[in-house]
Amino acid sequence: MTPLQALQKYFGYTQFRHQQEAIIKQLMSGGDAMVLMPTGGGKSLCYQLPAVLLPGLTIVISPLIALMKDQVDSLNINGIPAAYINSSQTTGEQQDIISRLRSGQIKLLYLAPERLFSSESRLVSFLKSLNVNLIAIDEAHCISHWGHDFRPEYLMLSSFKTEFPSVPVIALTATADNLTREDIKEKLALHNPAEFVSSFNRPNISYKVSPKKNSYQQLLSFLDERKEDSGIIYCLSRASTEDLAADLRAAGYLASAYHAGLDQETKARNQEQFLRDEVKIMVATIAFGMGINKSNVRYVVHYDLPKNIEGYYQETGRAGRDGLPSEALLFYSAADFYKLQRFAKVDGNEEQSRIMLKKLDDMVKFCQLQTCRRQYLMHYFNEPFPDHCGSCDVCLTEFKRFDGTILAQKALSAVVRLNQRFGTNYVIDFLRGSKSEKIRDEHKHLKTYGIGTDVSKADWQRYISQLVNQGYLQVTDDNYPILQLTPASDAVLKGQQKIEFTLAEDLEVATEIQ
Ligand code: ADP
Ligand code: ZN
Repeated sequence: MTPLQALQKYFGYTQFRHQQEAIIKQLMSGGDAMVLMPTGGGKSLCYQLPAVLLPGLTIVISPLIALMKDQVDSLNINGIPAAYINSSQTTGEQQDIISRLRSGQIKLLYLAPERLFSSESRLVSFLKSLNVNLIAIDEAHCISHWGHDFRPEYLMLSSFKTEFPSVPVIALTATADNLTREDIKEKLALHNPAEFVSSFNRPNISYKVSPKKNSYQQLLSFLDERKEDSGIIYCLSRASTEDLAADLRAAGYLASAYHAGLDQETKARNQEQFLRDEVKIMVATIAFGMGINKSNVRYVVHYDLPKNIEGYYQETGRAGRDGLPSEALLFYSAADFYKLQRFAKVDGNEEQSRIMLKKLDDMVKFCQLQTCRRQYLMHYFNEPFPDHCGSCDVCLTEFKRFDGTILAQKALSAVVRLNQRFGTNYVIDFLRGSKSEKIRDEHKHLKTYGIGTDVSKADWQRYISQLVNQGYLQVTDDNYPILQLTPASDAVLKGQQKIEFTLAEDLEVATEIQ
């Protein structure tokens, strides 16, 4: 049987995705492979299909017991004999699997890493007595300290190559920067592994950011148009997942909550109901999702601002695994930004919090974009994406562009006159000649006071935000955020640099100011 025939016969698909075929060839010819593919890209098939074609046994290492059961069930349904051994089973059940392994009836065996090389376990020597043809290590980034999910038990997997020197190993992950990638290859002692890096772009997911104003009403009208669909709504706190799920149930939706504080049984039940489509909406913290293989999630909503792009992308990636059009909607508010900023500052050591703040900053930049969101995401992951996508909310917005040089000069002069010591709201009130008592008397006598009366407060916010995004102003935080000039400001003030503004009523978020 050729790989393509097996693909059709056992999996019911007509063609390979990404580099699946090349990866399968590499393994079938006995070589090691390192595979980087986004969530939903189709990693499992890369070792499941060779497992069918090879005469002996394929061992699959996976960190999540819940995921193992899912995968084994669906393999068995497809007529591929598979099993797992883990702590949830009785000795009797384990004995049964052992004897089926001995008689060569099982093609794929799923194991958690800690089972394998623990000192009292005789599993390895038993496995060595079998005809092992392939070893697959899923979520391989767990072996590296540099990855975001280090699991010490993964380090034991280093002995694979010594115990099974002639068996090809495939390491798979959805997230690994260069450093982590090198670390994985080294720790697993892969022999000249072929590397397969797929694009992280998920063309069937469209990205949208909405200002977090009347977010519950916005959410309801979003859901109202998607009554038949499954979706995940991520919230920051455990309490808010339960509150929102209750509100949605009261509004007539099949919604359930999931967070790490629920007892094991409730978590398992809620998750199961969601997988079986008995619950349409899962309102969850980020504890929900890793290893959830539900292909028809149509939307992922971030009800609160995520902490970083990595998490956001991983979470939105749970939509549309079946390749059908899906949506990612994020509600953004500056208040959320401040809240996360406080968390980042108290959390951990100084170096750690510096990194977290930078990542949060990149997340906020994403929310405030006036250029293609997909392009930003791809660049964030070091993947070239030269054009705009045409399917994110920014790409779908029509912009009015106009010469904003005079407006920019007014704003920058105001910042200068105020000695770069005031925040955006004060600068705007000053520009608009506000009679408020908040404006200091000495400022009311300055020449720049009131030079921007003809522009509304909201528009000034939009322009100043664009000046910040374009690098002509910066917001620095000295107890509270203040507006200051940048090295680029001077040319604008001297009339040597023209400024273009855009006006897009739909893109309100872009105007929220930090
Ligand atoms: P990953 O582990 O990379 O997150 P999965 O292996 O769970 O992704 O695959 C995601 C979905 O894509 C699954 O529903 C899987 O059956 C499907 N899939 C995998 N390969 C193909 C293919 N060649 N054609 C169509 N669907 C595929
Ligand atoms: Zn776009």
